[in-house]
Amino acid sequence: MHEKPFQIIEKSRLTRRDFLWLMSMSAAGYMVGCATNPVTGKSQLMLISEEQEIQIDRQNSPHQFSADFGPVQDERLNNYIDRTGKAMGAKTHRPNFPYSFRAVNATYVNAYAFPGGSIAVTRGILLAIDNEAELSALLGHELGHVNARHTAQQMSKGMLTQAVVGGVSVLAGTQGAALGSMASQLGAIGAGALLASYSRDNEREADALGMAYMVEVGYSPKGMVGLMEVLQSLSKHQPSAIELMFATHPMSEERYQTAVQTANSKYKSDLNRPLYRDRYLDNTARLRAQKGAIEELQKGQKEMGKKNFTQAETHFRRALKKAPNDYVGLVMMSADKMLQKNWVVGAQYAEMAQKAYPQEAQAYHLSGFAKIQLKNYEGAYEEFKTYERVLPGNPNTIFFRGYAQEGMKRIPEAANEYRRYLQTVQQGKYAQHAYLRLREWGYVR
Ligand SMILES: [Zn+2]
Repeated sequence: MHEKPFQIIEKSRLTRRDFLWLMSMSAAGYMVGCATNPVTGKSQLMLISEEQEIQIDRQNSPHQFSADFGPVQDERLNNYIDRTGKAMGAKTHRPNFPYSFRAVNATYVNAYAFPGGSIAVTRGILLAIDNEAELSALLGHELGHVNARHTAQQMSKGMLTQAVVGGVSVLAGTQGAALGSMASQLGAIGAGALLASYSRDNEREADALGMAYMVEVGYSPKGMVGLMEVLQSLSKHQPSAIELMFATHPMSEERYQTAVQTANSKYKSDLNRPLYRDRYLDNTARLRAQKGAIEELQKGQKEMGKKNFTQAETHFRRALKKAPNDYVGLVMMSADKMLQKNWVVGAQYAEMAQKAYPQEAQAYHLSGFAKIQLKNYEGAYEEFKTYERVLPGNPNTIFFRGYAQEGMKRIPEAANEYRRYLQTVQQGKYAQHAYLRLREWGYVR
């Protein structure tokens, strides 16, 4: 008898949960402490210590970066983002914090920070902004969240518990319309689930800090106004592209007005400082050359979100014609084929994606998933093994290793993986499957 635990894929209608199954998420634990706010200097109820902020960051940020298709393979661009961010980081309230900055391949518009100072901006937002002052406003805003310890605050209030306790079951339970519909656009899956949803007060504080930091290192405060204009305009013309950014960073007319007023009052004397537009355009030249391909990817992901898989495919094909080695394009084609249950071609695109970016994990997951569907359990096992080597700490990988072992009838090995999985995740479909097998095989009573 061969049971089909992947029955969700057998159904004709795919739910958000089904999409989530194709992708991967991580888990983290956290503990308790007490602290002084570095920005206000006041003592506050804080259940997370600085060491824990860094630890939570290290456990989670690599999985988020992977969900966003990894850092761009454009060293010049990554170095530029990192340099620009670190120059400001040194002038913040936590000057010795381990900040790091990168551009990630995702094509939707977003920027985010983990509590230990790992900050990312997407290709989508880098294409939307126009100069280095706007970039510094964006990075400064994220630095504001890190310095005012907003994620730790949210966690202390219990706001983030659902995002950090476990794997897919937790992700599937993520509430909020914006997150839900974004998550159904495969490319953005997982994105946001581990990130804090800041309050409007948090946003005001991050804006104020961001502006102070950017002016401190010599940019014109016009950069913040420009950034707000970009976000306002995108929210009018491309609301779906920017949904997740607004889910984590609530946007408002008020934020824009405040930026204009602060620039024209508090920082009036700094208004004529440079924006460094040429330097921005130079360092983003390779990215901007991919603009056409990225726009096709954005359109394809939008169609995919509406489950128009054939229309999505048309856009992905166009994107790959313009940029044949684009990792996002190859991964999306693979996922799109797999959602149409074409496992063979899905696996082929996943392998092309692996070749295009061997250090990035997602394509190994897709390939392993396709091979499980094709009952090539040995091949699948190898893919998940590679995934774990490239990106350790994803409980889903452990489950799938167990599942592949089970397919190969290696029961003790499968039991071992299932036990490891259940140590991290106790809820959801995978956990249920693992537990039932362990019982069936006599490993638990
Ligand atoms: Zn924010």
